[in-house]
Amino acid sequence: MPRMLTGEFTGTMALTEPHAGSSLADIKTTAVKQDDGSYRVKGSKIYISGGDHELSDNIVHLVLAKVPGGPGGVKGISLFAVPKYRLNEDASVGERNDVHLTGLIHKLGYRGTTSTALSFGDEGECYGYLIGEEHFGLRYMFKMMNEARIAVGFGASMVGYRGYQYSLDYAKDRTQGRIAPNNKPEDAATAIINHGDVKRMLLAQKAYSEGGISLCLYGSNLIDRINTCEDETLKNELTELLDLLTPVLKAWPSEYGPKANDLGIQVLGGAGYTREYQAEQFWRDNRLNPIHEGTNGVQALDLSFRKLWQKGGLGIQILKREITQDLESITTPESAQLAGKLMPYMGHLHEVLVHLSKVLQTEEAVTLTGNAQALMNIFASIVLSWIWIRQASKAEQLLSTTQDAEQQNFYKGKIQAAKYFIDWELPLVKRDIELLTNTNSVCTDMQTEWF
Ligand SMILES: Cc1cc2nc3c(=O)[nH]c(=O)nc-3n(C[C@H](O)[C@H](O)[C@H](O)COP(=O)(O)OP(=O)(O)OC[C@H]3O[C@@H](n4cnc5c(N)ncnc54)[C@H](O)[C@@H]3O)c2cc1C
Repeated sequence: MPRMLTGEFTGTMALTEPHAGSSLADIKTTAVKQDDGSYRVKGSKIYISGGDHELSDNIVHLVLAKVPGGPGGVKGISLFAVPKYRLNEDASVGERNDVHLTGLIHKLGYRGTTSTALSFGDEGECYGYLIGEEHFGLRYMFKMMNEARIAVGFGASMVGYRGYQYSLDYAKDRTQGRIAPNNKPEDAATAIINHGDVKRMLLAQKAYSEGGISLCLYGSNLIDRINTCEDETLKNELTELLDLLTPVLKAWPSEYGPKANDLGIQVLGGAGYTREYQAEQFWRDNRLNPIHEGTNGVQALDLSFRKLWQKGGLGIQILKREITQDLESITTPESAQLAGKLMPYMGHLHEVLVHLSKVLQTEEAVTLTGNAQALMNIFASIVLSWIWIRQASKAEQLLSTTQDAEQQNFYKGKIQAAKYFIDWELPLVKRDIELLTNTNSVCTDMQTEWF
């Protein structure tokens, strides 16, 4: 660990196998215990980021594997540290372990790190060291993965933000046409940022990326509060809230970060489609985020079938309390108006959940596998609206405290982005509310043969 912390050694998370990505229950890698307490690992892993390179003295793979004879499914998964080079008695780097690079994966984006296929134990000599106890591997991995999910949300929002800033600069610089409808040919061409539709695309990018960053800051703050809280009841409540929000923290920014980058390309017009400009790279890099650390489809299922209902819906009760408290304490007029627009959606969510709680007791429960994304949309849009209203309310309070033009513009921009989110994005979930309220079965009724 000390040498990982200093960067002398690097590490990987080796979960995915060629036939088992979302469903880790099906992994085939095995680990057999030896007399000396170590294990011999055998199996293949794929897509392992940083799986091989010569940038560090050693690479410590955290490998999920099954100990023969253990329980089936995820309950039989254990976690092992498998170094590229074994350590000598004095902890110096020793001989090569039996783990080998079998292929490099060539990716759409994210090219700053190698993506590898690895083979463990081809010669039966792959030493692995059990972490914790046998069969609790996934639980340990999730300890790391839950924070990694917020990191994915952050990363997606940041790349979204980078694309926003890039296209914003371009839009201020690039001139094209005149402002409709009173355009005169003799007028000089205007910067494209003055066109209403370009403002729309920039506002959307701002709303998605700054909204995502603010959401992930809220999630990170929850982790800090959980780690420092001395009141057990509050600690449990915050833990429940974080658990409920984790699928949203991962999935919403990673859905909307690439959308922001897509709009960034559009703002640049033809230039956005060329390699001369970086806008396309942001989109390519960001496109990974809805896929890894649990696909967004899997996050929606986790929210719909587990997180919203666990502990009798405690998480959602706490969230409602937090949102209501915030909305009721607003003292500024514009944010109060936005809060008034959000309130009815809280009621709609409640009605949808009451309806679903009944549907889940019937055979129609299967429809939710097709409609989980719709439920994620409703839930996440409400959470993001709340996150934006929190920002707007703060901005409105601070606006009157400063005469500094730059600060005033910053606060006004926040208020306007919150208005954009509540007026343009939130109402889109009306479709999803209808789908769920009617237990729509179009997706699950579709038969393979009909495609
Ligand atoms: C660049 C990159 C880096 C990566 N880095 C790592 C790494 O370092 N370590 C590591 O272990 N893995 C890594 N991965 C693997 C990544 O975590 C998996 O790609 C991801 O978990 C999805 O698994 P899969 O590719 O097998 O897709 P599948 O699981 O086959 O999924 C394909 C599609 O089916 C859907 N699907 C699957 N199961 C269900 C279900 N039950 N219900 C509904 N829909 C479902 C998915 O949502 C998805 O849309 C990386 C992948 C990439 C592309």
